[in-house]
Amino acid sequence: MFDKSVKLDIPCPECNHTVKLSIREIERNPSYACPRCQNTINLDARKFTKELGKAEKQLKDMFKKFK
Ligand SMILES: [Zn+2]
Repeated sequence: MFDKSVKLDIPCPECNHTVKLSIREIERNPSYACPRCQNTINLDARKFTKELGKAEKQLKDMFKKFK
């Protein structure tokens, strides 16, 4: 499994300002207010977990090729 404390760049859909949040933080608090435009963004931690899992699998496959 990947590290849930890794910070991800989450872009605000309103102003594109990126906020760094970890999966653990998203799980704990799935909505946050953008510091720039105050827009409330609802995040689905499961979605990020799924995407991260996919990325991790791709990385592993890539490393296998170089062995
Ligand atoms: Zn914003």
